[in-house]
Amino acid sequence: MIEDVKCIIGLEIHAQMNTKTKIFCSCPNSIKDAQPNTNVCPICLGYPGTKPALNKVVFENGVKIAKALNCNVADNIFFSRKSYFYPDMTKNFQITQYEIPVGLNGYMKIDYKGVEKKINIRRAHIEEDPGKLVHMGGDITNSEYTLVDYNRAGTPLIEIVTDPDFNSPNEVLIFLTKLRAILEHLNIYDSEMIMKADANISVIGGARVEVKNITGFHNIIKALEYEYNRQKIMAKQGIFVKTQETRAYSEKSKTTKTLRVKESEADYGYIFEPDLSWQTMDSKRMLKISKTMNELPDERIKRFVKEYTLTNELSTVLIYTDKALADFFEKCCKEIKDYVLIGNWMATHLMKCLNYNNVLISKSKINSETFIDFIKMIKSGELSERLGKELIKDLVSTGKSVKELIKEKKIKIYKDEDVEEIINKIITKNPKIITDYKSGNNNSINFLIGEVLKETNYGADVEKVRKLIEKIIK
Ligand SMILES: [Zn+2]
Repeated sequence: MIEDVKCIIGLEIHAQMNTKTKIFCSCPNSIKDAQPNTNVCPICLGYPGTKPALNKVVFENGVKIAKALNCNVADNIFFSRKSYFYPDMTKNFQITQYEIPVGLNGYMKIDYKGVEKKINIRRAHIEEDPGKLVHMGGDITNSEYTLVDYNRAGTPLIEIVTDPDFNSPNEVLIFLTKLRAILEHLNIYDSEMIMKADANISVIGGARVEVKNITGFHNIIKALEYEYNRQKIMAKQGIFVKTQETRAYSEKSKTTKTLRVKESEADYGYIFEPDLSWQTMDSKRMLKISKTMNELPDERIKRFVKEYTLTNELSTVLIYTDKALADFFEKCCKEIKDYVLIGNWMATHLMKCLNYNNVLISKSKINSETFIDFIKMIKSGELSERLGKELIKDLVSTGKSVKELIKEKKIKIYKDEDVEEIINKIITKNPKIITDYKSGNNNSINFLIGEVLKETNYGADVEKVRKLIEKIIK
């Protein structure tokens, strides 16, 4: 059976850090909308004679990540030069960490199908990003010519290397979701930052294939799914990958293709970087860094369960999907004490609208004040669930207030007296409802609720209708 072909995946993840400046110079670490080769200086262009100066925030971020991933942090940490002979790195070496990285031998626990699994983290290290190659008229394998933009050169990266502990692309998805949440909670990573991965993937009996340089969370999963499927289909026919191979993932065709033969680490010829001093991690410095570490996602989930009485699942959805979503939730909870109601509306209808519009909450037009007003009206029964589901779409896409939208869309809001009037009218038309009810037939109440809802075109809240009916006929 093809489904039984077991796969083994290991990851090397590179995540950009959202620091103010680059890793070794004072150029801004923001290249959005900048013209090519304008956000550069002699240091990040690697001019002879220039010397790097380590951005302390980058280093401390590295320590925080290492701690969050349960890694050992060495007492003395240094940087190395890695031979790197490509046009996107002018000095022909990349400053990275090799012998003693910022974090070693850690782990992350993931929850897959209700079973806890430990993913070992081999190492976490800090390095500089090279510039960007722009392949004109194609991709790396077939473009006519290539341009180089050095704006990105010197962007701080954290590289996280796992053991080959994953057995499916789904496990990778859970891991990356949690990793992203950790980085977001440490304020090191945000939606403007880019995550890339090199992934080793093999099926039992076959050699390892490395899929290089997959850009973006979504593409990493897509590339792994494709490659797993390709190797599975081959395995079914008795064909296995014979020698280690490097492939590239094409976003356009959503497939992978052979790139080149893999180098071994020895080919990189690492040497100690003499222009940067050793970083000493004594207990005093460690304590100082630890004190500035924010609450991590797992702790926050526990707090949400305790403080807001949400379920573990609901807390996980809010916290892992997007840190800003969890922040938005907490902001609303300061105003309305019905935490579960807020959480449920957010995790279902609000997230559905955000996904539909393909927008993050931080970039959408809805703000917490509008959402608080909205939930208050749902809670009081002024807005029925049906109307709420309809209105929330407009709250997300227009940014208008609930009251503005009600007026604009000429939505009738049913007050208690309006509903009571409708109930009385229906009872007068169907006096049997009362006699049936008094003889113990509860279906008559349901019939009456149904009639009232129909009459209001489902604009009245069902719980409110039930309460008012009970009040009238008792
Ligand atoms: Zn620079």
